[in-house]
Amino acid sequence: MPAATSCDPTPRLPIRPDLVGRVPYGAPQLDVPVRLNTNENSHPVPPDVAAAITAALAQAVPGLNRYPDREFTALRQALAHYLGHDLRAEQLWAGNGSNEVLQHILQAFGGPGRTAMGFTPAYSLHPLIASGTSTAWIDGLRGQGPEAPPRPQGPPRPEAPRRPQTPGSLGAFELTAQAAVRQIERADPDLVFLCSPNNPTGTALDLEVVRAVLECTRGIVVVDEAYTEFARPGTPSALTLLPGRARLIVTRTMSKAFALAGARLGYLAADPAVCDALRLVRLPYHLSSLTQVAAQVALAHAPRLLAGVRSLIEQRDRIVAGATSLGLSPEPSDANFVLIGGLTDERRTFEHLLDAGVLVRDVGLAHHLRVTAGTEEETTAFLDALASSLQEDR
Ligand SMILES: *Cc1c(COP(=O)(O)O)cnc(C)c1O
Repeated sequence: MPAATSCDPTPRLPIRPDLVGRVPYGAPQLDVPVRLNTNENSHPVPPDVAAAITAALAQAVPGLNRYPDREFTALRQALAHYLGHDLRAEQLWAGNGSNEVLQHILQAFGGPGRTAMGFTPAYSLHPLIASGTSTAWIDGLRGQGPEAPPRPQGPPRPEAPRRPQTPGSLGAFELTAQAAVRQIERADPDLVFLCSPNNPTGTALDLEVVRAVLECTRGIVVVDEAYTEFARPGTPSALTLLPGRARLIVTRTMSKAFALAGARLGYLAADPAVCDALRLVRLPYHLSSLTQVAAQVALAHAPRLLAGVRSLIEQRDRIVAGATSLGLSPEPSDANFVLIGGLTDERRTFEHLLDAGVLVRDVGLAHHLRVTAGTEEETTAFLDALASSLQEDR
């Protein structure tokens, strides 16, 4: 595995000063039997859908002498149709992964002299992409600050061994409208990033928070809904707030529920004026003909590709139940992963799991690890390894 390399602090190259000493994104890509560290979908693309994509690609290849449709019109129509909510193609925008879409947003609405704000712990790439576009990043906090409301008391668990209180307890990572508004009014950012369901904590935001944030800021509000297809029933999408709100942007991806992380297709829905702004910063022809074709065929087979979501939700709920019965404190999850709190020494547990062939994510939160819901077999391997790791700790 190539280790994450940091930039030489005294560079011999005339690198931008704000990049000196920065560390590139470096989630490990280790060749282990059970990879549950980057929230990929463990189910491969079903053979019939794979065949349909291959056939469409084969048809497109002779035409690769021409540049792709710069406006990816057919794909935008397909995305609008998939999302519903009466969205029109002019409201859709896509890129090579939602990461590129987020970069377009920051290029158009952020940049030198501007600020973006998120509420940590949240998606690590929001600040990283901000830094790449020379947008200053402001770290807001989720509901753990001194002014945060008291933590709801869960019922006692007599079977669980007593462990020191950790931020993993119920509700500790909740972001309330009040806390968000207070921090935004203080910082007055040009962009606000909300992540719902939130990575790495797993829980979806109440739309009341999005509404309150939109009302208290003059800036752009991005709601990153990468995991929305896994949300618990009754979790509304911020798409429902789009009508009449030109500063709201909702981003989505085909990397998670659609099991197409390798295809690189992310998208957003917003006011058509937002797409006009993004057109100013995207590279012409940024979406290859092959990407456009593959994504369109995938969308045409959406129910088939999304069939795996139900079983991943089952495995996610199994992880929550399993971790709870081991005396740990999993966060409530609306995603295809679970943040597990209550670990005595998360690094030891991480290493123990890795020794057992299971790769999870150390997200840098004390006493916590994040694990992706895998296939039933992968999830069993994780839960077994977790149980044996805790046994050894005792
Ligand atoms: C995985 C993830 C994405 C997806 O990024 P892509 O570039 O579309 O693969 C976006 N946002 C969050 C919060 C994620 O966890």
